[in-house]
Amino acid sequence: MSCDKFKDLLMGYLDDEISEQERVELEKHLTECDECTKELADFKDLKSITDDITLYQPEDEVFDQYWSSIYNRIERAAGWIILSVSGMVLLFYAGYMMIEEIIHDETLSWVFKGALLAFIAALSVLLVSVLRERLNTRKKDRYKDVRR
Ligand SMILES: [Zn+2]
Repeated sequence: MSCDKFKDLLMGYLDDEISEQERVELEKHLTECDECTKELADFKDLKSITDDITLYQPEDEVFDQYWSSIYNRIERAAGWIILSVSGMVLLFYAGYMMIEEIIHDETLSWVFKGALLAFIAALSVLLVSVLRERLNTRKKDRYKDVRR
């Protein structure tokens, strides 16, 4: 058998995928052929590298999950911000229309009008404060996750 024939067997030899007869012939040839022995050593190095790559694959999956969870969090944070901002705009707008109507209603007393204005102003301040607290808590949560 020529060297080329044995070189074709080397990969299969490392993976234990050649016949008993082929294995015996190859091992015999390896004892008397430096070139094929060197090639086998190269294949062994290559195989250990590809084995390492195979070992890293599960970690890649964890990495993918990590990124998809980050993406989910960004999505949720964006949802919260849009919800808060649009809710505030709706409230301010509804409040504004209410004030307009009530201020021009001559049958209502100024005490009621003043109390209502104060109530709406306080509500707006509280909403902004709650939103700001939410955003601050979010930032702290993010650092907590990194430490974990
Ligand atoms: Zn050879």
